[in-house]
Order: sequence, then structure tokens, then C-alpha cells
Amino acid sequence: MVKYLLLDIEGTVGSISFVKDDLFSYAEKHYKEYVEQHYEEDQNLHALGDSPESTLSAIRKLHAEGSKDRHFKHVQGSIWKDGYKRNELVSHLFPDVIPFIERALQIGSKVYIYSSGSVPAQKLYFSHTESGDILPFLSGFFDTTTGIKTESDSYKKIIGDSDAREWLFLSDNINELKAAQRIGIHVGLVVRPGNETVSETEGIPVYHSFDCLFTE
Ligand SMILES: [Mg+2]
Repeated sequence: MVKYLLLDIEGTVGSISFVKDDLFSYAEKHYKEYVEQHYEEDQNLHALGDSPESTLSAIRKLHAEGSKDRHFKHVQGSIWKDGYKRNELVSHLFPDVIPFIERALQIGSKVYIYSSGSVPAQKLYFSHTESGDILPFLSGFFDTTTGIKTESDSYKKIIGDSDAREWLFLSDNINELKAAQRIGIHVGLVVRPGNETVSETEGIPVYHSFDCLFTE
């Protein structure tokens, strides 16, 4: 029985385009305004440059590189937080996700999230969905501070002392799935509209929808 469900976000529960296009372009549009309004009090901005001008150009460069710099990620997170608060951002979930999570909870499973987006960004994501705040459904969050998603050690840390066979990890990334599978976790490859085509699934079960999971 699956006691623990571990879910990826991008390309699994939400569309890649929401993260890549909507979230990142929202941040890009608001860097200037954010630096102007918060340069005095946000230490993350000071860490990126000696003046508002140099900070802004550093931010634009990090954005173009897709950087995971800690201070830069904090700035992005603050901009998204404002966007969600103003209802200018509403995170995307595929329509089968909430019914699936509800079924998992009904059979006594716990639901966890593992994404390369930071834990605070993940919490923002699930508290501002088209169906409202679904944070109460989720038991925990993991990001790259636990380890990178393509390494088996990260999954060892996530499961702790529990039995790997009681876990199911669902993701659109075959390398993440193989890393989890190596320590005995059950895995499923999720295929959603807009995902990159995975040509070799290496025997891993493929799901185009969650509708068939956890149904009697
Ligand atoms: Mg993904």
C-alpha cells in the first residue's frame, strides 16, 4: 500500500508553461519596481549590488541565466508573493490533481511535494491555486536544500526511517524517477500537455492522468 505520495510540481501537477512563462515573466516585469521600492530594507538586494542600479542589472543577468542564487531566488519569491496577494498570479493545477489528492488522503496516505523551487515558493504555489488554498492537504515540502532531484541520496533523506516500498513518487522527469527507483521507491512517469517527449520510459509506468490512481 502507498502510505506516502511524493509529487513533483512542474509538468506533473501543474503545467510547465505556468512556471516557465507566467511566473518568470511576472518576476521579470516587476524587478525594477521591486528594487525601487525595497532597496532600503531587503538585505537580499544589498547582497546583489552596491546600488539600486547595479542590483537591478545583476538581477537581470541572473534571470537570463536561470540562476538559482539564494538572494536572487528570495527576490523572485518576494515578487511572486506580492503577485499572489494581489491576485495577479493564480497557480495552475491540472483538473485531476485535487480529486487525486483527496483520494490519497481518504485511504490514509500522506502527500508530500518535492520540487526544485524553494519551499516558500512551493507553499505560495499551493496556497493560491484556482481552487483556493490546498496547503492543509499537504504534509510536507522538500526542495534542493535536501539534495538535487536526480540523486538517490535525496530520496533517502526524504523517506528517513520509513520503508521505501510504501512510497510512490510521480514526476515528468525520468532521471528523477530512476534516482528514486534505485532505493526502492515506486515511481510513475507523468505525461502532461506541454511536457517534453520522453522516448525511453525504461519500464516505468506512464500516467497521462491521475484518474486511474487510488481508485478501487
Ligand atoms: Mg517536473
